[in-house]
Amino acid sequence: MTLRARLTAAFLAVVLGPVLLGAVFVGFAVAAVSDQRAAERLDAGAENLRAALAVTCQRLRLAAETTALLSVDGNRPAAAQDAITRGLARAVEVTRTDGALVTTAGQLPTKPWADCAAPTPAAYSAISAAVDVIDANGRRIGRAYAVEPVDSTLLGWLAEASGVRINSLADDPQPSEEDKGIAATARGLVAGATGTSTDGRLVRRLDPRPGQPLMLAISVPAPETQGLYAVLVAVVVCAGLVAISVAWWLARSTTHPLTELAQAVERVADGDLSARVPVRSQDEVGRLGQTFNRMTREMQGYVQALTASRDQLRGQLGVLGDTLSSTHDLHRILQVILQTATAATGAQSGVVLMVDPASGELRGQVTEGPVGIDVAELRLHLGEGLLGTVAASGEPLRGRIERDGPVLSAAEPGCVTYVAVPIAAPGVGPTTGLEQPQPDRPPAARGVLALYDRHGFDEFDDADLITLRTFAGQAAVAVDNVRVHEEAQRLSLTDPLTGLSNYRYLRESLRREVERASRFGRRLAALALDLDRFKEVNDTYGHAAGDAVLAEFARRLRAEIREVDFAFRQGGEEFVVLLPETDASGAAVLAERLGEAVRRSPVIVVSSTVGQPPRRIPVTVSIGIAVYPDHGSTGQAVLEAADDALYAAKAGGRDTFRVAGGVTSVKGSGEVTPGAPKAAQPPRQSRGG
Ligand code: GH3
Ligand code: MG
Ligand code: MG
Repeated sequence: MTLRARLTAAFLAVVLGPVLLGAVFVGFAVAAVSDQRAAERLDAGAENLRAALAVTCQRLRLAAETTALLSVDGNRPAAAQDAITRGLARAVEVTRTDGALVTTAGQLPTKPWADCAAPTPAAYSAISAAVDVIDANGRRIGRAYAVEPVDSTLLGWLAEASGVRINSLADDPQPSEEDKGIAATARGLVAGATGTSTDGRLVRRLDPRPGQPLMLAISVPAPETQGLYAVLVAVVVCAGLVAISVAWWLARSTTHPLTELAQAVERVADGDLSARVPVRSQDEVGRLGQTFNRMTREMQGYVQALTASRDQLRGQLGVLGDTLSSTHDLHRILQVILQTATAATGAQSGVVLMVDPASGELRGQVTEGPVGIDVAELRLHLGEGLLGTVAASGEPLRGRIERDGPVLSAAEPGCVTYVAVPIAAPGVGPTTGLEQPQPDRPPAARGVLALYDRHGFDEFDDADLITLRTFAGQAAVAVDNVRVHEEAQRLSLTDPLTGLSNYRYLRESLRREVERASRFGRRLAALALDLDRFKEVNDTYGHAAGDAVLAEFARRLRAEIREVDFAFRQGGEEFVVLLPETDASGAAVLAERLGEAVRRSPVIVVSSTVGQPPRRIPVTVSIGIAVYPDHGSTGQAVLEAADDALYAAKAGGRDTFRVAGGVTSVKGSGEVTPGAPKAAQPPRQSRGG
């Protein structure tokens, strides 16, 4: 059973019950009052009738007395006639005591007559009053009768006087069917009782008694209650219809909003947060609807905000993934990690600092949002301010600066709330060997990732801290990856024994430098170097000593060249040096200097055998020089020309140099071979001997 049906039923029970009860009560009351009024009317009618009959009898008596009195003085007929004329009686009769008729006047009705003084329940046709006729001596000499026939005239007058309908029960003939019915009903009653005739009249039977000599039926119309009952039923029916309509409307107006609310709740349960209910009133149900609408509106807002931030985060994580997998640009990786961390936690700004291995300081790497500082200028000592504290301790910090501290350094970004986590310390994973731990205060972290001032003035919570540690972990891995990558890159281009660039890098550098020289119209000198009689060094001192000689040679070579020059180990004991923006004479100066640096002192090699003194190994080098574009139009050609010149230097006795296409050479003594071009003259004084 629905709520609406229950409400309707309850309302009907409350309203219709009393209406029906009231109607029944009114019905009974009306019936009782009507009966009562009818009985009262009959009572009053009987009383009036009695009075009217008393008057009639008095009148007849008066007529009889007048006649009896006047009969004594002998004027009998005149006296009787006089009573009739005066309207006291309709007929008069005087008899002697023996019964003989003396005189009459008027139309005498047939006997018997009902006597006013001695009523009897016998048949009669008239009503009469009689008095004795007394003579002068006081003797009774006869009797005088005054008579009134019980006819329609008398009954009509009585009915008029009493206010009820009157029927005589003394003789049968009744003028109408209705009268017959009344008479029949009255005859079936005992005297004084009340009944109802077939046509609905209330009838009472009155028998003769003193003061009322006639046998009569008085009747009044039955009370008219049918119409009343009809009205009552109509009222009840109308009230019922109205009550049903009102109950239905009330129940509907009460349950309809609830039905709508239930449907809306179902839609929300199915995930449709756009569901709203129409609010039509300010009552409890209306307020419920308003609250429901507000609730779903706010939920929708939350969900939209969540979806938006999820999409944003998703995009950010996509960028992060792409960046981590596709680039070894550390700066870019840190920037994307910081952006993602900022978006994930709702921070307004953030910064990443890394420990500089050389100085042991924290240096700003990237920033996000308004931090109010120049990140390139950001330098902090370990333990200084918030960021330095986190880096030194390796412990994350979060909170509100004014409440939790620490005191911010003037150099670092200002903030109200913060969360800062260390980027994992070195030693976890591959290292480059460049990270020299600070002897006085080793850094606990490789860097710091910090976020500031979360949107909405909330503090950062533990969830943010965990999120940020994840990003810091990623940053640490990314830093390691980049460094490992850089190291691998470096190693692939470096000769491990001498630390010089290898043959692979030589080819690349040669191509690049030739291109640069060609573009700017400059020269590029190439030196090919080969140690003299190195096989003998190996044979005499061993391969390990040979390696040590090679390393020492490389060191001396590096010491002699400028920063812009490149030195390569081409293989074995053969080396190449590229001198940008240098011509043959400049190259010859260097060749001379190099030969001198090698020749000047023997290489001292510590013996591998314990107790043996260190070996002193004398070494010399032969050098061939070629210049782009003078001796070749390509890098390869220039290198080949330099090799040819080297070959010439070897052929010329070693420990000397030759310029391609020329014959210049310097002997170990520093002697200049005649015929060398002027430009290639080695300025022997430049090294000061
Ligand atoms: P020259 O160049 O003066 O004509 O004589 P050489 O003895 O140097 O002759 P060559 O260039 O033919 O010999 C090169 C030797 O260098 C051969 C090899 O034993 C030695 N050598 C090459 N690479 C290495 C190396 O990596 N370590 C050591 N210890 N020796 C090497
Ligand atoms: Mg060689
Ligand atoms: Mg050699």
